[in-house]
Amino acid sequence: MIEITNLKKNFGPNEVLKGINLKVNKGDIISIIGPSGSGKTTLLRCLNYLEKPDEGIITIGEVSINARKVHKKDIYTLRKKSAMVFQSYNLFQHKTALQNVMEGLIVVQKKNIKEAQEIATELLRKVGLEHKTKAFPSHLSGGQQQRVGIARALALNPEVILFDEPTSALDPELVGEVLSVIAKIAKEGKTMIIVTHELNFAREISDRIIFMDNGVIVEEGSPKEIFVEQKEERTKQFLKRMV
Ligand code: ATP
Repeated sequence: MIEITNLKKNFGPNEVLKGINLKVNKGDIISIIGPSGSGKTTLLRCLNYLEKPDEGIITIGEVSINARKVHKKDIYTLRKKSAMVFQSYNLFQHKTALQNVMEGLIVVQKKNIKEAQEIATELLRKVGLEHKTKAFPSHLSGGQQQRVGIARALALNPEVILFDEPTSALDPELVGEVLSVIAKIAKEGKTMIIVTHELNFAREISDRIIFMDNGVIVEEGSPKEIFVEQKEERTKQFLKRMV
């Protein structure tokens, strides 16, 4: 289970997260939606301390970190619990698709090369890239690179996968192939938190939708509660603007 308690983050005078509270159960698919600048990405990055919160407690499984007294060792342990899929893929450019997926298996999970190769090959098959194992990122389309990024995240066998706007850097015709890979993984019961502007996708695959605005969670609920029966005026206005 993941629990976020009173999470706060400022960038200078800009209060970006104003006390976020959130619980995510094992196997849940959560989508975070909301206007640009509302703090969605910052929340996701705080979850694995890519961004250090100013205040608040983050618990993933048995690891719990209080921002007021953080030890480096705890951050390392927390990071092992999650894997991030970035908007801009963040692949090693000098490594092949296979080597990119193998990296975490060797460095973090201490697998031997043969074992890492087998797992990475299987994961690339899962994301439909078995024919591209030897390709370098520069020879892959954006959608293919993102699918390598997803295979790399899966390789770490994390408790949760954090997706940070995984399709927003893609040409429209490449969005579908990435979303269908995410949907496939979702069916396998992996806990996932997805920051996305793809509202139809969020509605289809999520157990719960979080609507954020201006550093707070305005409303959360099932896809039906948020997209059809929203209670808050701010949610209504946002959805009206998006259609
Ligand atoms: P978008 O949908 O456009 O990606 P978002 O909801 O994910 O937006 P964030 O990226 O979390 O929003 O940004 C929230 C606010 O924090 C913005 O005002 C942004 O300018 C600011 N911000 C984010 N990262 C930094 C940073 N490293 N330094 C300073 N300000 C930042």
